[in-house]
Amino acid sequence: MKKNKPLFLLVILLLSAPFFLQAQRRPRIELPSAVNSNYNYHDAFAPFFYTHNGTEYRAATGEPGPRYWQNKADYKLAVKLNEAANEISGTEILSYTNNSPQNLNFLWMQLDQNLFKQDSRGNAIVPLNGSRNAGRGQLFDAGFKIKSVSIVSGAKNEITTDVKYMIEDTRMQIFLPKAMAANGGNIKIKINYSFISPDYGSDRMGVLSTKNGKIFSVAQWYPRICVFDDVLGWNTHPYTGPGEFYLEYGDFDFTITAPSNIIVVGSGELLNPKEVYTTEQLKRWTTASTSDKTILIRTAEEVEKENLKGVTNKELSWHFKINNARDAAWAASAAFIVDAAKINLPDGKKSLAISAYPLESNGDSAWGRSTEYVKKSIEFNSAKWYAYPYPAATCVAGNVSGMEYPGIVFCGIRAKKAGLMHVNDHEFGHTWFPMIVGSNERLYGWMDEGFNTFINTLSQADFNNGEYKSKEPIDKQAIGNYYTAPGLEPVLSYVDNYKERNNGTLSYSKPGEGLTLLREQILGKERFDRAFTTYIQRWAFKHPTPDDFFRTIENVSGESLQWFWRGWFVNNWRLDVAVREVKYVDSTDVSKGALITLDNLEKMAMPVVLEIKLSSGKTDRVKLPVEIWERNISWTFKYNCKEAIESVTYDPEKVLPDFNPSNNSWTKQR
Ligand SMILES: [Zn+2]
Repeated sequence: MKKNKPLFLLVILLLSAPFFLQAQRRPRIELPSAVNSNYNYHDAFAPFFYTHNGTEYRAATGEPGPRYWQNKADYKLAVKLNEAANEISGTEILSYTNNSPQNLNFLWMQLDQNLFKQDSRGNAIVPLNGSRNAGRGQLFDAGFKIKSVSIVSGAKNEITTDVKYMIEDTRMQIFLPKAMAANGGNIKIKINYSFISPDYGSDRMGVLSTKNGKIFSVAQWYPRICVFDDVLGWNTHPYTGPGEFYLEYGDFDFTITAPSNIIVVGSGELLNPKEVYTTEQLKRWTTASTSDKTILIRTAEEVEKENLKGVTNKELSWHFKINNARDAAWAASAAFIVDAAKINLPDGKKSLAISAYPLESNGDSAWGRSTEYVKKSIEFNSAKWYAYPYPAATCVAGNVSGMEYPGIVFCGIRAKKAGLMHVNDHEFGHTWFPMIVGSNERLYGWMDEGFNTFINTLSQADFNNGEYKSKEPIDKQAIGNYYTAPGLEPVLSYVDNYKERNNGTLSYSKPGEGLTLLREQILGKERFDRAFTTYIQRWAFKHPTPDDFFRTIENVSGESLQWFWRGWFVNNWRLDVAVREVKYVDSTDVSKGALITLDNLEKMAMPVVLEIKLSSGKTDRVKLPVEIWERNISWTFKYNCKEAIESVTYDPEKVLPDFNPSNNSWTKQR
């Protein structure tokens, strides 16, 4: 066919005429000149943030896919505490269910106690100037002593087959004589073992001497199955100290046998209180279970009186049960004062807050209020996010400065007042991350510490009408400077992959502040809270990855946030917006409006808030969406004023992490 050239040209002319005429009529506004900037809008808003699409295991929406699976690990543990030798010895029976679509020829287990052996990888990487991790150089016969590993079967586990195993640092590989079937195959592994507790176990467990006896804070106390998942297969990253845990869910039934003068507290419900507490103490338990005020179960006087009797040869066994948990821990001491109070949960459900502490920590300025702190923290987070899932919440004073386990936490013996409230609130805040939402802490500390730090800001501000709330508003520009200091590694790093001194920023405060920024400055409280609650509900008792979190927040809030994930989590980008200048559309008549120019000088993008002061003294707020930075380094917009502008201030309330406040204001020249 032959082209009809003249007609084609005529159509073009007709179509473009209105635009041509309009452009001629409107006075052309002079755009801002180029500025020297590190901002690259393509880097900030580039496509392909996600390196893979959703799968049938993990959906593109960020929720578990239709064929999501995870394995199950139920433990039956029976151990004995040798108080004099600090030794724990006993038997584990792990009932492991393989829900994966693959047969398994071997299993991997974690032997975390091996960190404290002199030749462990974790000890090898302790820097010269010391570390919170590993065993602080204590020389002792450390590590798990594995006495036997066997497969058991029969109604009473009476049929035993020894299996081959191999130990490498903090991991043990168990070779199965016959592959474990996919899609629901089950195996029972029996392990006889013992270990001597370190005095100082990487600040997560340990033994402390007090006036009335040692306090044993016991964790990482049995070989634990590694998580087998659809992300990495077997998660065998060794325990070197910095990275915490990644554990499988299941039901725990455990018994601790100890000298009869010792009180034992543990994860979950104590099944045999009648066998271990006195009649009087039992009555107090009953009172506590219906009391909003703290009730003493074992008083300081009783501790001292029983202490005078000395050690007996008699032993008691304490039997605990916790279901749908990823771990269990316990503590034991003759020195424990014990108190408790009822926790009120949504839908009329109840739990019990318990504190166990020595005489040295007693008193209303210290652990005498511990149970009150635990109760209020759990009540707040249960109402706000997801109901606390366990029958008890026990807080133990010892030489661990703060460490969380399902239904039990260990906090520092010397913590007091706001310090104790904050550590109790933080450690029990871990119930939601990682106990309920079971992310991989060994790799991604920010997904439990950071998310927990964020929920702590709300529960701590709420506590007792703000008793321990900071009175001054926090200057987020100053902390923005600190959180994005050059040389900091990105938040999205493996825990082992950044400097120990940066752990507080990268695992805790910076990701925590990231959620506050999302909630208060980007999405708004209602949209953020809905998205964050959905993340918790979707991944409760499951194993989310960073992408599952990012995708859920984007899908539920309906907002593409990849520019924010890139700036705050994936990279250590800085924010520096400058108010460059104010001009008037007509320099002879300010009532025709002003042209305000902003420059984005660093790598990060954020929505803009400006405060505009007018000559009459009135002030106005202007909000601009982050999209102004999607294809611009500088942005000029028209502000419809009827009078002259005195000043323009970017981020007037200092709620954005703009590290350089020196260029945040423009003031009229006099
Ligand atoms: Zn923590």
